[in-house]
Amino acid sequence: MKQDFTLSSFKDFEDIPGFDIYQRAGAHKGYLDYLRDNEFMNYRLLATSGCGPEIELAETGYIKKGSYISFVCNDYLGFTQHIRVKEAVIDGIEKYGCGAGASPLIGGYFDYHKQLEDKLSAFFKREKGSSIVYTTGYTSNSATLLSLLKKEDIAIVDMAVHASVYEGISGTTTKRFLHNNLDALERILIQAKDKFRTKMVIIDGVYSQDGDMARLKEIQELTHHYGGILLVDDAHGIGVIGASGRGAMEYFDVMDKVDIITGTFSKTFGNVGGYVIADPRLISYLQFQSRQYAFSAAATPAIAGVSKAIDLIDEEPHWQKQLQENIIYYKKGLLELGLDIGTTESAIIPVKIGDVKKNSEAGKLLLENGVYTNPIMYPAVSLKDSRIRMSLMATHTREHLDKALNVFEYVSKKLDIACR
Ligand code: PMP
Repeated sequence: MKQDFTLSSFKDFEDIPGFDIYQRAGAHKGYLDYLRDNEFMNYRLLATSGCGPEIELAETGYIKKGSYISFVCNDYLGFTQHIRVKEAVIDGIEKYGCGAGASPLIGGYFDYHKQLEDKLSAFFKREKGSSIVYTTGYTSNSATLLSLLKKEDIAIVDMAVHASVYEGISGTTTKRFLHNNLDALERILIQAKDKFRTKMVIIDGVYSQDGDMARLKEIQELTHHYGGILLVDDAHGIGVIGASGRGAMEYFDVMDKVDIITGTFSKTFGNVGGYVIADPRLISYLQFQSRQYAFSAAATPAIAGVSKAIDLIDEEPHWQKQLQENIIYYKKGLLELGLDIGTTESAIIPVKIGDVKKNSEAGKLLLENGVYTNPIMYPAVSLKDSRIRMSLMATHTREHLDKALNVFEYVSKKLDIACR
């Protein structure tokens, strides 16, 4: 008899009691086959053009070869394709070659890394020595937290933080508080008083699934009032939020009050990698004690593109302005269709559908009609919070947005997903 996978999710296959690795992988494959057979396989679609507001997809299974309007790139300002960013990457590679050849401690630390660190410190208005560059945003969180927080410490995290934070706090005491709930946070801070060496509150500046912002000012005040340290991952805020694109910290005027800032180069900066901004004593500690930094090869010379992207945030503010105009226009259009876009305040636009099956159907219909989005389901969000997730870019044109809105109108009627 065929297994019923209708309510399954990837989480179900993380561990299965009594199954060895091949049995577990076999069960997992059964789920993948179910997704493919039902044309719900919206993951790992093969693209044959670069990241951008339009993307070519290759023919795979039921996916037709062709050009799609894309809402899957977190390249908010379009810098993966910016001519000056590309030139900087090419110059970096021409001068230094393709790889760093070693970890930073034993020969892989170059002046293009130092230049980027200095630019990051200056961008966040900190003294030199306040930043460290990792090879992914994921490890900026996971490796930093793993090396800083131990058994005698406590991590107090908003329940909506990114998976990389959860990995980072696996070796310390952990308490989660309801998303953005100040009372719940304060209760934990009071309980934790005098019981732990370091109390670290960990939040995102902009949350990756709902696109809403942290109640940053209040959280910063509470955290410091109770002697805690505040870490903010603003992966989705930099380049998007704040008068000069310095993220949620700038918006809430707490740039100099957040103890540790983490972020990524894979979104606004149009590259790959991540960073941590903190007191130089912590940075110097991480350089030697953060295992994923110390024992892993340093970023490639292509990282020179990030230094250029940092300059461009200040030199070409029109990208941020254009992105904001797109956000306002697109949100208005979706709301006029009666769709539920939740509480987003950023370039991440969810359309909340709720029902898992309808959500998959919506993703499929959008794709069939030339619009490429991400249907998000459990465990990324709870089952009842299934949604279509989109990232807007400065380089989406009105034509792209209008076409997508037309398709949403059709999908909404067909699946009856409008909330009013
Ligand atoms: N933090 C947040 C909030 C994220 O959404 C992501 C990934 N999209 C990361 C960290 C990890 O960044 P990276 O892709 O650079 O590993």
